[in-house]
Amino acid sequence: MNVYDSNRMKDLFLSKGYKVTEDIKKADLTVLNTCHIREKAVEKVYSDIGRIKKIKDNKSDMKLVVAGCVAQAEGNEIKKRSPTVDFVVGPQSFHKLPDMIDKIEEPLNSEFLQNEKFKNLIFNSSKSTSEFISIQEGCDKFCSFCVVPYTRGPEFSRPVKDILKETKNYTSNGVKEIILLGQNVNAYHGLGQDGKSKDLAYLINKIAEINEVKRIRYMTSHPIDMKDSLIIAHSENPKLMPFLHLPIQSGSDKILRKMNRKHTVSDYLKIVEKIKNVRPDIAMSSDFIVGFPEETDTDFEDTMKFIEKVKFVIAYSFIYSPRPGTPAQQKDNIEISVKKARLSALQSLLTEQQKTYNKSFLNRNVEVLFEKEGRYENQFIGRTIYNQSAFINSSTSLINEILNVKIINSTNFALECQA
Ligand code: SAH
Ligand code: SF4
Repeated sequence: MNVYDSNRMKDLFLSKGYKVTEDIKKADLTVLNTCHIREKAVEKVYSDIGRIKKIKDNKSDMKLVVAGCVAQAEGNEIKKRSPTVDFVVGPQSFHKLPDMIDKIEEPLNSEFLQNEKFKNLIFNSSKSTSEFISIQEGCDKFCSFCVVPYTRGPEFSRPVKDILKETKNYTSNGVKEIILLGQNVNAYHGLGQDGKSKDLAYLINKIAEINEVKRIRYMTSHPIDMKDSLIIAHSENPKLMPFLHLPIQSGSDKILRKMNRKHTVSDYLKIVEKIKNVRPDIAMSSDFIVGFPEETDTDFEDTMKFIEKVKFVIAYSFIYSPRPGTPAQQKDNIEISVKKARLSALQSLLTEQQKTYNKSFLNRNVEVLFEKEGRYENQFIGRTIYNQSAFINSSTSLINEILNVKIINSTNFALECQA
């Protein structure tokens, strides 16, 4: 979502006559778009500010903006700690940035102005194959470890009409794949053209009616919002890719309760069963947190057993990071060495599963959308329908082509294919 937001900021400034430079020394304006989800991401912001300060000190006309969720959570502190920062803007009011710079608005803004923001943004294609579209933002779920409800604000869904218009902006540039984004994307409940609230399955089916759209994906989903309509869309809509990123966080019901996740392991397994019933080849992905307060060896083993059972094709895993203002923050009580050992065991298992999954594609045919040039000459990189990274050798450009290719080799993280 930060990539999407950064593109929107870029579009805003381009419309005001700014130009993009890759060389920070030439920049009159630098925007750091930041993430607050884990402590490490926040530390990085302050070290980046320090790095930029050195350049800025020799370039008195450069302005520095800190945007995103760190700006939202620590706005005043950033200004105090780093006077070199000129403007601070949160993720729901960054449309005000040009006016802030022109001194029409205050230099610090952390209002939740979702509606106003989307009305004032500009949506130009940054690529020609696949584009993100934020359709839902914020969260009302308040998991005990998570800052999102405080930084992105309450759940908000954009109207169907606006999303379709944005999609057409991108398809007119050749885009074939749309990736719908939201912190809880499957909680989507935007207004339809009839004035009634519509769910994610409805939106996906509407987007699929646009001829030029060939592939649709969505992330990130929450288990309690996994409605039957969405599961049915996976069986009935051929443009909806057979891939589901559905974070569980832990395989222990005790920990899920302490995380305030509002679902159990068996609720999750029921969803997997339902979706596999209608789409047996669905590729499952998830997020895990290890070392959550009071996670015992047994709780962790339950997570490992759960992973063995579901078999994920990919997953993201993190050491629990205590976050300011969240209920779990004060309870962090697992030794860092234990956290690291658990993360390493869990990641080995996940990598093993990914490797096995990729190997199962050897000599099979699969459809790939090629997106960009690879590192080597005549190499092109794309994604399979199951979201695996794939590469191919070709003397002619395959960018933005969807091809049915044969898999001739597999590594842990990618597939080599042949036309
Ligand atoms: N809404 C999604 C997740 C959004 S946050 C969901 O509920 O599943 C993305 C991921 O960051 C989470 O799934 C979680 O695994 C991780 N995360 C969030 N807060 C964290 C924290 N305090 N420490 C470690 N990982 C965290
Ligand atoms: Fe954070 Fe997701 Fe929980 Fe919301 S549902 S609080 S975004 S982890």
